[in-house]
Amino acid sequence: MVTKRDDEWKDTLTPEQYEVMRNKGTEAPFSGKLLHNKATGMYSCAACGSEVFSSEHKFDSGSGWPSFYDIAKKGNVKLVEDTSHGMHRVEVACAVCGSHLGHVFNDAPQTPTGMRFCINSAALDFKKKSV
Ligand SMILES: [Zn+2]
Repeated sequence: MVTKRDDEWKDTLTPEQYEVMRNKGTEAPFSGKLLHNKATGMYSCAACGSEVFSSEHKFDSGSGWPSFYDIAKKGNVKLVEDTSHGMHRVEVACAVCGSHLGHVFNDAPQTPTGMRFCINSAALDFKKKSV
């Protein structure tokens, strides 16, 4: 587990990452640097480096955020009921450091799981797989 005080997170994250990951913000759609990334590799939590999603499960959902239909490392991701903003959603968070990553919806019938993990680019780091 990784635990840091709020001011320590402020020191280690960019203002955009802090807003998304610690304040559960959402970046503007079609703004993220990883939205159109099609390279093969692993996506990790931008706050603590834990691997969370894989390019293997990435798909273009048209939503404007990087979308995955499955979790790459199940133990590194936790799903939390979220009833904020008058909606009932399921939050996707890093299980290691507790940072907010995005939300998951079951509205992707075009994928093998039917699930759409809608993740903020700002919450992810990408490491290209070396061949
Ligand atoms: Zn993390």
